[in-house]
Amino acid sequence: MNKEETIVALATPNGVGAIGVIRLSGPDAISIAGSVFKGKDLTKQESHTIHFGQIIDGDIVLDEVLVSLFIAPRSYTRENVVEISCHGSGYIIESIIKLLIKKGATGAKPGEFTLRAFLNGQLDLSQAEAVADLIASNSKASQQVAIQQLRGGFSSQLQQLRDQLVQFASLVELELDFSEEDVEFANRAQLKQLIININQVVSRLIESFELGNVIKQGVNTVIAGRPNAGKSTLLNALLNEERAIVSHIPGTTRDTIEEILNINGINFRLIDTAGIREATDAIEKMGVERTMEKISQSALLIYVFDAVEITIEQLNNDLKRLQKPGITMLVVANKADLLTKEQLLSLPHSQSAIIISAKLKRHIDELKRKIYSSAVKHQLSGDETLVTNIRHLEALQKTEAALARLLNGMETQVTSDFLAMDIKQALHYLGEITGAVTTDDLLDNIFSKFCIGK
Ligand code: GDP
Repeated sequence: MNKEETIVALATPNGVGAIGVIRLSGPDAISIAGSVFKGKDLTKQESHTIHFGQIIDGDIVLDEVLVSLFIAPRSYTRENVVEISCHGSGYIIESIIKLLIKKGATGAKPGEFTLRAFLNGQLDLSQAEAVADLIASNSKASQQVAIQQLRGGFSSQLQQLRDQLVQFASLVELELDFSEEDVEFANRAQLKQLIININQVVSRLIESFELGNVIKQGVNTVIAGRPNAGKSTLLNALLNEERAIVSHIPGTTRDTIEEILNINGINFRLIDTAGIREATDAIEKMGVERTMEKISQSALLIYVFDAVEITIEQLNNDLKRLQKPGITMLVVANKADLLTKEQLLSLPHSQSAIIISAKLKRHIDELKRKIYSSAVKHQLSGDETLVTNIRHLEALQKTEAALARLLNGMETQVTSDFLAMDIKQALHYLGEITGAVTTDDLLDNIFSKFCIGK
């Protein structure tokens, strides 16, 4: 990336819209925009002002536009930024971008605006990643987690702890210079306390990933049960619409369905119920393999049984086969409308099963609450810090391991040079999260996932 270049890209989605916003960033953003703008002299205007005028290519008027000016460093990238709001025709947008490139701008690479914001110190790395998450967020909960991370989230906290550790590192390094004299500049008790503090923060963040991931990715959910148990009917009741085909002939759900059930902002992805349907037919034929494969790819299993038809042996058999470590199972007794209260009470597993009528949509809300609380174990508070990014998780896990080595080294009273090495490693992994330590590969990897114009 060459910071001397001024980059240009469409910041709004491709396709026809009422308006399209073309973004320029770099030292020549204002002069390049000014060279095709008929209106006020843009180079003489103040930051954060908007100007009406025309974009002209020689004598030809391409469009009437509004131009917003952001003068460095008061902009998203901390460079000169110009945003041209034009009419959202693909032809106009393409013509204006081509014209700006002719006047000296370069087409932006994916994520290059945000990369520049990071390299110019406007955002740290995890905040830059939060921009991508925010753009991709598709539920209230995922938007809130992303916005929290964008505001600084945990990286500012980690940065502070890292700064303290850096100080200790330099004191330990100093000891190396005086190794003959056996002095200790770095107070070992304080260092140990700091490491314990960092470790607490790091472990808490690692633990938060489980929930963070649920919010960001959703929960893979399978509805399984014997033919005619009411799986399709339940799916419809949960989704509150007639989406899947319901039939009294076993095995009619044949199209592949992936439906999103959103409960309080969490997306539950009901995966391929048709496949499950075929697979569950096979439960009876002892061919549990496919069912198990589907289930092993999910985090939540909703097992439905027909409260009228099933025998206790069948039920116990199914439960035994379907139960898998790491996968939450909710047991649902369906067709409660066909049974009396007494019959319901004497149902096998009546204590733990959720008793519903999918057809009459009874107790569906209760089931939804159970589904939600199986994934979200405690109430979300607005300002909670959650890790949602697998790269952060890995760096945190490596930090945790490095901190453990460090503590272990201190217990066994290793020499200052080993201690210095262990501290360096912990610093390295902590720095990977905030971007204090980066490599080109890492940056490429992160920013190439952005779209052009972001
Ligand atoms: P699947 O094979 O497990 O997907 O079962 P379906 O959803 O296709 O339902 C099988 C049959 O049971 C259909 O005729 C449904 O109308 C009926 N059914 C489903 N849920 C209920 C319920 O709660 N009460 C009653 N009485 N019938 C139900």
